[in-house]
Amino acid sequence: MSINFSEEASGEIITTTASLPEDYSEGSLRPRTISEYIGQEKAKGNLEVFINAAKMRNEPLDHVLLHGPPGLGKTTLAAVIANEMGVNMRITSGPAIEKPGDLVAMLTNLNQGDILFVDEIHRLNRAYEEILYPAMEDYAIDIILGKGPSANSLHLDLPHFTLIGATTRSGQLTAPLRDRFGVTLRLELYTPEELRRIVMRSAGILGVAIEQDGAFEIASRSRGTPRIANRLLRRVRDFAQVRADGVITREVADLALSSLEVDKLGLDAIDRRMLRSIIDYYGGGPVGLDTLAATINEEAVTLEDVYEPYLLQKGFLTRTPRGRCVTRKAYEHLGIDYVGQQQMEL
Ligand code: ADP
Repeated sequence: MSINFSEEASGEIITTTASLPEDYSEGSLRPRTISEYIGQEKAKGNLEVFINAAKMRNEPLDHVLLHGPPGLGKTTLAAVIANEMGVNMRITSGPAIEKPGDLVAMLTNLNQGDILFVDEIHRLNRAYEEILYPAMEDYAIDIILGKGPSANSLHLDLPHFTLIGATTRSGQLTAPLRDRFGVTLRLELYTPEELRRIVMRSAGILGVAIEQDGAFEIASRSRGTPRIANRLLRRVRDFAQVRADGVITREVADLALSSLEVDKLGLDAIDRRMLRSIIDYYGGGPVGLDTLAATINEEAVTLEDVYEPYLLQKGFLTRTPRGRCVTRKAYEHLGIDYVGQQQMEL
């Protein structure tokens, strides 16, 4: 039996934060309650206060905006909120709303207290956003029926609901929409220790035998992102079953992840290309984001949303007013002599 563990096997980079088909079982790994939701202590602390206050007043929760890089648990947290509030949640996303009627139908189908979760809310058509303003503020919508002089306007009252918006780019939200969220929570990248706990919990649910050190190895190579940690856990489990005796030890995790080309800190091919290009073509920086994106043939938004947060957290990259710079730490990680850059600066 031969198993190809390389990145090319799936055609995708395994450490991508985007959801892959193999993440189909994410649902079963999703925490359901605030106490099961690991990490994000600041956001959780604030939420607990808001949830308890809303419950005491017997009112729906204020509208919540969740922002942060992909795979950090925004959808999961929205579902946790619904569960803690004891209400139903309907899920849609900005790009899925193709016409105003889609949004009106979602809103009019809600029950009192329900949550409407709109993923990627920054991608909602600007023209339809205006439907949301009165819906969020006054729990009502005005629909224009017909065209021209015979047009009629219909006023519809909505139940008191909670909108939870999720976005990777809060800066792209229009000010009127952003202002209508009473609560804004920013999710941060997880620490390796928090991810270790997430990996241990997921292993328990999936029935995978794992040692603490093995979990930590996976955690430290998961780019601060639970979605990646869970995916790597499943891949390492396959490896452990085929090449070892089924138990994920530190050595097994290391071997499996190295064969997947996930480096010691979880950097993937694009991270490395990004850092190397800044070093090779721009003397370590500064270089503007758009120039860098063109150099490595990636979209600037992808670099900014998906790659930069982790490189900044690891201290490999700094943002300056003149552009991105690679740090000495990154040279060391890539095994490149730092003296080179200093000479170029002279
Ligand atoms: P996002 O909506 O931000 O892209 P998701 O909510 O879909 O991210 O989370 C991806 C996966 O990561 C979920 O299926 C869940 O299993 C896991 N996850 C996210 N946050 C946590 C957490 N705090 N504790 C445990 N697992 C988590």
